[in-house]
Amino acid sequence: MISSVLPTYSRAPLSFVSGAGSWLTEADGRRFLDLGAGIAVNALGHAHPKLVEALTKQAGQLWHTSNLYEIPQQQALADRLVEHTFADTVFFTNSGTEACELAVKMARKYFYDKDQPERVEIITFDGSFHGRSAAGIAAAGSEKMTKGFGPLLGGFVHLPFGDHEALTAAITDKTCAIMVEPVQGEGGIRPLPDACLKGLRDLCDEHGILMILDEVQCGVGRTGKLFAHEWAGVTPDIMMVAKGIGGGFPLGAVLATENAASGMTAGTHGSTYGGNPLGCAVGCEVMDIVSDPAFLAEVNRKASLLRQKLEGLVANHPDVFESVRGTGLMLGLKCKVAPMDVVNAGYGQEVITVPAADNVVRLLPPLTITDDEIAQAVTRLDAAAATLSSS
Ligand SMILES: *Cc1c(COP(=O)(O)O)cnc(C)c1O
Repeated sequence: MISSVLPTYSRAPLSFVSGAGSWLTEADGRRFLDLGAGIAVNALGHAHPKLVEALTKQAGQLWHTSNLYEIPQQQALADRLVEHTFADTVFFTNSGTEACELAVKMARKYFYDKDQPERVEIITFDGSFHGRSAAGIAAAGSEKMTKGFGPLLGGFVHLPFGDHEALTAAITDKTCAIMVEPVQGEGGIRPLPDACLKGLRDLCDEHGILMILDEVQCGVGRTGKLFAHEWAGVTPDIMMVAKGIGGGFPLGAVLATENAASGMTAGTHGSTYGGNPLGCAVGCEVMDIVSDPAFLAEVNRKASLLRQKLEGLVANHPDVFESVRGTGLMLGLKCKVAPMDVVNAGYGQEVITVPAADNVVRLLPPLTITDDEIAQAVTRLDAAAATLSSS
């Protein structure tokens, strides 16, 4: 008999009942060190006092009014995002994949309004992930996500990751945008080298097409900059954000330049819940904390500490791990065993990690993780790996 929860996930037999900082407490009382952060969502850890305060204060005042009216918390969060990024304007969603939907619509509408309605194609890359909506799965294009769900939304051109010649050849007078994650998350923590991101920007400028960055996973301080593209010194035209921005509250956003957003006039897009007072009150706190240069400097310092210790872990277990990759606190352990075996062994040592494609285990700890917790994390991962070592 089918379970009352639609069985689209194979879940670990763990139920967490409370969280504090980098720690989660299981129903049986065991405390787990959380290096997954709800898949890069709990950027400030669990039950951060500032976020709890912002949410409970707002919950006592007003939950929802709809976008038929002004929403001061939404305005405040949009102002912060505009102040700290390339963007001139922001639309709020409730998830990453909804941000993908709008990014696609925005890019197409831009050219439609410029009397180039034939420019609808968006170039995307193998191993990418843009969510599970109709546009999201069509954009990523992998068989795993699309099989059985046809007909798929058309207009996506899928290219191999990092093949410059294929890219240049794929740009035609039908191309409207290139959509890419600066660091692939689900794809197995694959950073796009800065030079490639710059090259993509140049290509977009040369052909007059829009650059859409998906920073749903790598954004909001995860790589040690507020947004990952800042490392390359380029800016997109459109950017998708979600996960970390809500610190655990479902919140997403599309950020855009005034030019790229020019087609999105009143009535062209909407959301009942997007930008609701609860999510935006929390989002403002997240932004205030994460956009502080001192906070980002700490992320970078702790990221090098973790990375250095992980290099040691890999060296200690050459039969389990191949290498460390990634950037900031978005790190991956490339495995020689099934990544799920490493994740399961981690559960045995009360440490949480997240599997990804390309034989990688992801480490996406809260950005607030302490030095002591980093040391404990690696000790636990070491014990987990020891249970898998053949030697
Ligand atoms: C998680 C993710 C999405 C989808 O976000 P949802 O909130 O699950 O819809 C899109 N893009 C990237 C890069 C992601 O990591």
